[in-house]
Order: sequence, then C-alpha cells, then structure tokens
Amino acid sequence: MDTRNPRNWAPRTLAAQALGRIDEASRAIVPPIHVTTTFLRDPDNQYRSGNIYGRADNETVREAEAVIAALEGAAAAMVLGSGMSAATSVFLALRPGDHVVAPKVMYWSLRNWLMTDAAAWGLSVELVDMSDLGAVRAAVRPGATKLVWAETPANPLWSITDIAGVAEIAHAAGAVLAVDSTCATPLLTRPLEHGADLVMHAATKYLNGHSDVVAGALATARTDALWERIRRNRAVLGQILGPLEAFLLIRGMRTVPLRVQAACASALDLAERFSRHPAVAEVLYPGLPTHPGHAVARRQMVGGFGGMLSIRLRGGEAAAVATAARVELWKRATSLGGVESLIEHRASIEGAGSPCPPDLLRLSTGIEDAGDLFADLDRALRAANA
Ligand code: PLP
Repeated sequence: MDTRNPRNWAPRTLAAQALGRIDEASRAIVPPIHVTTTFLRDPDNQYRSGNIYGRADNETVREAEAVIAALEGAAAAMVLGSGMSAATSVFLALRPGDHVVAPKVMYWSLRNWLMTDAAAWGLSVELVDMSDLGAVRAAVRPGATKLVWAETPANPLWSITDIAGVAEIAHAAGAVLAVDSTCATPLLTRPLEHGADLVMHAATKYLNGHSDVVAGALATARTDALWERIRRNRAVLGQILGPLEAFLLIRGMRTVPLRVQAACASALDLAERFSRHPAVAEVLYPGLPTHPGHAVARRQMVGGFGGMLSIRLRGGEAAAVATAARVELWKRATSLGGVESLIEHRASIEGAGSPCPPDLLRLSTGIEDAGDLFADLDRALRAANA
C-alpha cells in the first residue's frame, strides 16, 4: 500500500491535514482562499486551466470536495449552499413522472418539501417505514422508481436503515439509493461501502461542526449521468458554496474525527444515565440494546452510534417544554452537530404530519464534559417535574 497516497490514510490523518495539500506558490500549510469570480483566458481564447467562472469553478470549493470524497471513499463530491440545497438537487435531477420512495421518519423540512412541492416537478413520492425492508420492497415499482432516499440514523427517533438491504431492493428495481448520512458522519458509516449510490450531508452539522457555516455536500459512487445533471444544475442554478464558507468547512473538517468521537462517547453515557432517570419514560439512541435499530446499527456503524439522542418524558409535552426552559448549559436551539450541546422540543417545530411525539426532547451532544451535561439536564428535569 502506498502510504504517500492520502486516500490510504486513516480518516483522522486525512482530515487533520485536509489531504496534506500545501500551496505550491507560497509553500503555505494552510491553502489560501480563492475568491476570484472569473479567470483569464489564454491568448488563443482557450480556458486550459479548466476554470471559467466562479458559479461553477472554485479551487477552495474543490479542496473541500476532495476531503469529503476521501472521507466517504467516493469517486467525487460536490458542496452546495446548504444541506437542503444538496438534498433537493438530487430530486430535481430526476425526470417528471419519476417515482421516489422516502422515509416517514426523516429531516422534517425535506419531508415537507417532498410532500408539498415535489409534485410540482412531476415527482410522485411515497413515504415508507425505511427500517422495514418488507415495506420498502412493497413500495418500490420496478422501472418507475428512480430514487430511494434514506436517512440513518433518522431524525428525531434515530431510526436505523439497513443500507445494504435497501440498496439491494433499490437496485433490483432500477433505482438509485441516496443516503442522508448527516448524523452518522463519514466517521461512523460510509454508505457507499454498503451499496448506496449517493451520500448527502448537511455539512452545516458535524462536518463543519462549529455552528458557523450553512453548507451541504453530496458524494457519489460514480460520476454517471445523474451526477453530471446535478453538477450542471448546481452551476446553472447557482447553488455552489461560497469560497469563504468552503474554507471554514475545510477548517472544521480537520477535527471532525475527534469531535465525533467525543460526541459519541458522551451521547452513549447520557443515554445510559437517562435510561435510569425517574422523569424519563424512554431514551431513543441506537447505541442502546433496547433501540429497535440496535442490531443493524452495530453492523453498519463503526466507532460509535452518533451524538444524537432523544428522551421522552413521563410528564408529557408540558414536562418536555418546561425542562427545555430550565436548562442553562444545554442551549435551546434547533440544529445539531456543533461543539456546543443543543436541546429542542421537536414537535413544536415539526408541526402537523410529524411522527415526533410531543413528549420528546431532541439532544445534540457536543464536546463538553458529559458529567456537566448530565448535571444540567438532570437539574432541569427534576425542577420541571417537582
Ligand atoms: N438533513 C438533516 C439530517 C438535517 O438535520 C438537516 C438540518 O437540520 C438537513 C438535512 C438540512 O440541512 P441545512 O439546514 O444545511 O439545509
């Protein structure tokens, strides 16, 4: 094995060094941010550099993409202006009349878009229990289904999808499988190795990790016609990530293995402790043997079960809202995957049609001390239930 090839490095090594690239002109260890919107033509009117215009071409963006492709073991990656932009770009690269199968339990904003807007593009969308291979098999229509969309672990119940099982069903029907792997991160699961064709990340979350960039990413098993349509749409519709955000994303990714490792350890610790808490009816975390997706998660996730968990309170919705009101260290905010821990009453934000129970609090475990995190939430739970 050639150890000089960054593709052969461990994720921690390639992330820390952003693939070890330096700026050839200055020998800078941290490559410069390329902000130019346009590029010089050769005297004979050619563009031999391959760079024409900033809506399609940016070197800092390419550097971020190279790191993501290496982390995912992908043929190529693309970064876009948000996770939603990355996700919808896959659906918008389909053709009118195409049938899509997506999960009932998934990121709510994308589910809303699929339910309310996707039809305007001629897509017919069917939602299924993606953790049930029988249900997926019954939903796909050979020849008509072009895309199966999965998310694992899935918001906000942390349902687990058997990627290899769903990939087999999708491929037999002639469809591609795309996986929103935001919460697994490439450190815990590499969906392409399990048969997925596309991987999507809200890079806003763990990849960047510092709650200061909105970004999305796609990674592909092969640069086929679908990938080229997505790439062309990104250029034409102007969905590319800005170079300053791409730089921050590269900087954030240098520590993603360490942050994910810390978040996984704390989340498991908290899941175990809250399982024994008198105010807590149920803890939803794929790392607990009681979670319905635990067996598949053990097979599919390496090094941990993620930093996301949810707790359901014995006192119902009122207790959940009152608990969130009383935390101090945990921050009451939407989003996830940052260094700071966040707590959210999801039903309030997800609204009608959500599978989220009203007594549920979603926890995004950051990298703080797990004892401090437990103490703060324990105090809030006891005060809310007093
Ligand atoms: N997918 C998942 C799992 C998410 O949690 C989110 C955002 O919360 C998204 C996609 C959308 O990402 P963004 O907010 O960057 O558009």
